[in-house]
Amino acid sequence: NRRIMVAGNWKMYKTIDQAVALAKAVAAGPARQGLDVLLCPNFVCLEAVVRAVAGSHVQVGGQNLHWQDEGAFTAEISGPMLRSVGASHVIIGHSERRQFFGETEKTVRMRLAAALRHGLKPIVCVGETQAERESGQTDDVLASQLAGGLAGLSAAEMVKVTLAYEPVWAIGTGLTASDEQAQQVHAFIRAWLAARFDNQVANSCGILYGGSVKPANAAGLLRQKDIDGALVGGASLDADSFLGIIAAV
Ligand code: 13P
Repeated sequence: NRRIMVAGNWKMYKTIDQAVALAKAVAAGPARQGLDVLLCPNFVCLEAVVRAVAGSHVQVGGQNLHWQDEGAFTAEISGPMLRSVGASHVIIGHSERRQFFGETEKTVRMRLAAALRHGLKPIVCVGETQAERESGQTDDVLASQLAGGLAGLSAAEMVKVTLAYEPVWAIGTGLTASDEQAQQVHAFIRAWLAARFDNQVANSCGILYGGSVKPANAAGLLRQKDIDGALVGGASLDADSFLGIIAAV
């Protein structure tokens, strides 16, 4: 009974005109019962994308948010600002934020609190690097990202959170985790949730897979029992590819 989500993380791509054209093309695609379609453009394009998809089945989210509501934090964007533009979701702790912008488990946790405080639906990203996988640390890395990022969260809060498993070695590389590799990690995450919270929480949380998802591999991944959708980077930048992934659900 978990919903399926196909989310596009547009990262630092698209000017306003390009974003509007892509958003309209996605919104013109089919709506499916039980399927959430989400677009996460850069902040500059948010308002135009919200307008472009208004009245359609497509929802819009931010790619990050600051933990404070306002203040002297040059270039940052807050939860109330995302709400005011019409965003329903927000991505938190993407590996690119962890790798290039100093994101830590502690800042993930603070951003998560802000998202929940403002009624934004958080998508919290976790994932291991290639070196961590090769040295057998995948489960430990994920457990510590989950423990830190979700520290102190109540079950009632956790059921509002969507997780995204994005192996760093599969992001933008064309290397996808195999269906079995991805399913194995998703099952690990769900078991971790059951131990940390309870079975009901574990069974109701959506866990998306991200990392080189394309129309050709989406069906196999999404068929796995613990994979509840896809967080798509590169292939979300082109309407045909993104709609192809949605069609594969
Ligand atoms: P790619 O689909 O380009 O590998 O990116 C995945 C991702 O990072 C989505 O958040």
